[in-house]
Amino acid sequence: MTTTIGVVRETAPGERRVALTPDGTGRLTTSGFQVLVEKGAGQGAWFDDDEYAAAGATVCTRDDVFADSDALLCIDAPPEPGALHTGQLLIGLLSPLTEPDLIRSLATAGVTAVSLDLLPRTLGRAQAMDALTSQANVAGYKAVLLAAAAYAGYFPMLMTAAGTTRPAQVLVLGAGVAGLQAIATARRLGALVTGYDVREAARSDLASTGATVLDLPGPAGTGTGGYARELTGSEAQAQQQALDAAVARFDVVVTTAQVPGRRPPELVSPDGLAAMRPGSVVVDLAAGPRGGNVAGSVPDATIVTARGVTVIGAGNLPATVPHAASTAYSRNVCALLACLAPGGVRTVDLSDEVQAAVVVTHGGRIIHPLVPGVLDEEVTP
Ligand code: NAD
Repeated sequence: MTTTIGVVRETAPGERRVALTPDGTGRLTTSGFQVLVEKGAGQGAWFDDDEYAAAGATVCTRDDVFADSDALLCIDAPPEPGALHTGQLLIGLLSPLTEPDLIRSLATAGVTAVSLDLLPRTLGRAQAMDALTSQANVAGYKAVLLAAAAYAGYFPMLMTAAGTTRPAQVLVLGAGVAGLQAIATARRLGALVTGYDVREAARSDLASTGATVLDLPGPAGTGTGGYARELTGSEAQAQQQALDAAVARFDVVVTTAQVPGRRPPELVSPDGLAAMRPGSVVVDLAAGPRGGNVAGSVPDATIVTARGVTVIGAGNLPATVPHAASTAYSRNVCALLACLAPGGVRTVDLSDEVQAAVVVTHGGRIIHPLVPGVLDEEVTP
C-alpha cells in the first residue's frame, strides 16, 4: 500500500526550518509516495505552499496531516504527540536519550518513533541520511560568520593605501563536523586558523584542513562510535589549564566540543576569558541547557565581559540558515525513507542495520537498547 508522508510546521521558538522541501516532495512523489503538507509549513525557510503543490503535495490543515499520514516528518517532535495514531511513523531528531517522557508516550500510543540522532555515523550507506552532520555543517559555518560580525577587526590580511592589517588569529576547539566546517569557513575568510581536539583521529583531520594543530599535553580522549570520551576530573583540569594559557593568543575562539549524553566540557574558563584581549570574540556552539564549553555562556545570548570579550552563546544556528539547512535535512530524510519504505511501501525491518539503529519505539514498546525505559515491561500499545 502506498505510504502517505505528512509534513507539519515546526513550532519551537525561533525554528524556521522545515523537514521536507518542495524538491524532496518531488523526489518522494516520483518514488510512489503521497505527500501531505501543512499550510505554511515551509514559509520560515522561504518555501511556498504553491511550490509544494507543484511538486505533487496536497497542502492541507495540520489536523489533516496528523490524521491522514502514515509517516510524519519533523525536525523536533511536535508538541502534540497525542495527535499521532497507532501504527504511524514519526521521523525526526527526537533526542531519545534525553527525552524519555516523549519516547514513552510515543510507545504507549503505538507510534513507531524513528530518530535520526541515533544513526550510525560511520556506516557508509547511512551517510546520505546523516542529519546530525548536515546540520552541524550549517552550525559551524554560521558560528564563524557570527564571530566575524562581532569581531572589531578584519579576518583577512588587507593591504590598502591606509596600511596593512594583520589577519585574525582564530582558534577552533573540537574538530568534529561543526569544528571542521568552522575551520574551513574561517580560512576562506582569510584568518589564520588553529584547531584542537582531544581525539587522536581528529588531529589528522585537522592537519588536512591546513589549520595549525594546537598541541597540548594530555591523554587521547577517544571513546566509542568515533566520539570523544568524557575526560576524568584531573585530565579535564590539566586540559583547561593548558587551554587557559593558549586562548590568550587568539582574537576569536569558536568552541564545538561535545561528548554524547554528557555535559559539554568547559574548555574556556573564567581565567581563560580574563586573559583574552579586549575586542576578542568567543562563540560557544555547545552552549545549551546543560552548560557549554565557555564559562558563563548563555544559549541565544551575547555577553560582553568586563574586560571587553564578547561571548556568544550559539542557540539553534541551523534554524538561522533555514533554506540551506532544510534542503540538506530534507535530502537526509528522503534517503532514510528509501530505506524505511522502498518503492513507497513502508517496511519496518529491524534486521536492517540502519533501521535497528534508528527505530526507537515499535509495536507499543521502547525497543532501542540505548534508550532509557527499554526494559520497562509496562509499556503497552
Ligand atoms: P561531537 O559534536 O560529538 O563533538 C565535537 C568534537 O568535540 C569531537 O570531535 C570531539 O572529539 C570533540 N571533543 C569532545 N570533548 C573534547 C574536549 N574535552 N576537548 C577537545 N575536543 C573535545 O562530534 P561530531 O561532529 O558529531 O562527530 C562525532 C564523530 O562522528 C567524529 O568522529 C566524526 O568524525 C564522526 N563522523 C563521521 C562521519 C562519517 O564517517 N561519514 C560523519 C559524521 C561524523
